[in-house]
Amino acid sequence: VDNSAKFYRGYQDRLQQMKLIEEENERTKAALEIKSQFLSTVSHELRTPLTSIIGSLELVNNGVLGEMPQNFKPVIDMATKNSRRLANLIDDLLDLQKIEAGEIDFQMEPICSNDLAREAIDSISGYASMLGISLELHVCKDECQIMGDRKRLIQVMNNLLSNALKFSKDDDAVKVFVENVGSRVRISVEDKGAGIPDFAEERVFGKFSQLDSSDVRRVGGTGLGLNISKQIVESHNAEIGYVSALGVGSTFHVDFERLEVMDRDEANVENMS
Ligand code: ADP
Repeated sequence: VDNSAKFYRGYQDRLQQMKLIEEENERTKAALEIKSQFLSTVSHELRTPLTSIIGSLELVNNGVLGEMPQNFKPVIDMATKNSRRLANLIDDLLDLQKIEAGEIDFQMEPICSNDLAREAIDSISGYASMLGISLELHVCKDECQIMGDRKRLIQVMNNLLSNALKFSKDDDAVKVFVENVGSRVRISVEDKGAGIPDFAEERVFGKFSQLDSSDVRRVGGTGLGLNISKQIVESHNAEIGYVSALGVGSTFHVDFERLEVMDRDEANVENMS
C-alpha cells in the first residue's frame, strides 16, 4: 500500500510539472507572437511615412520644385542621409522578422555564380567609385552553378561588398573571387581594410553587433546585415565564414553546394527501351 501511495504521489508530481511546463511554453509562444506582430506593425507604420519623407526630400534635392537656395543644401543632405539610415534599419528589422518567423518564401532557381557576383558588383559600383575604391571580379572558368534565390543571394553579396567598402581605405581595391573548391562553389569578398579583432569572432554574426567606434566608419550600419546574411545563407544549406587580420584586411566567403550540370552528351541521350 505504501509503495503504491508513493508511486501515485510521484505520478501526481510529474503531472503537475508537465502542466507547468506546458503553461510556460504557451506563455512564451504568446509573447513571441505579440513581439512579432508588434515589430511588423511598428515597422510598417514607420516605413510608409518614411518613404514619403525620402521622396519629398528627393524632390527638393533634384530641383523639381524650383532651385534650392545653396544654404539649404547641407540641411537637406543631412535629412536625406538620416532618413535613408532609418529606412535601412527598418528594412533590416523587417527582414529579420520575416526570416525568423519562417515567412520568407525562397524562390530557388539554378544560378551561375559568376553572374551572381557580376550583378552584385554592378549594383554597388556607383557607391564604390564615389569612395574611390576599385572592384575586381575574378570569375571561375569552370561550371559554377548553384541553386538559390537570386534576389536574396544578391542581398547577401551586397552586404559583404558594402562592408568591404565601408571598412576599406581610399584607393584600396575590393576583390571578389568565384572558385570551385571540391564539390562546392566559393564566392569570396576580400578587402584590405581595418580587419576584425580575434575577440570579436563570436559577435560578428550576432544581432546589432558593431565592433568599432562609429568615428572610424564611413557610413553607419545596423549591425544586422551579417546576421541576416548568415540566416539567408544557412537557408540555402550553405556556409558563411571569414578570415581576418587587424590592419591587414578581411575575406568573407560563402560556400555553396555546386549544382552538377549534366554532361551535354549525357543530357541528349534518351532511353528508348
Ligand atoms: P553593419 O550594419 O554594422 O555593417 P554587419 O552585421 O554587416 O553590420 O557587420 C557587423 C560588424 O562586423 C560591423 O559593424 C563591423 O564591426 C564588422 N565587420 C563586418 N564586415 C567587416 C569587414 N569587411 N571589415 C571589418 N569589419 C567588418
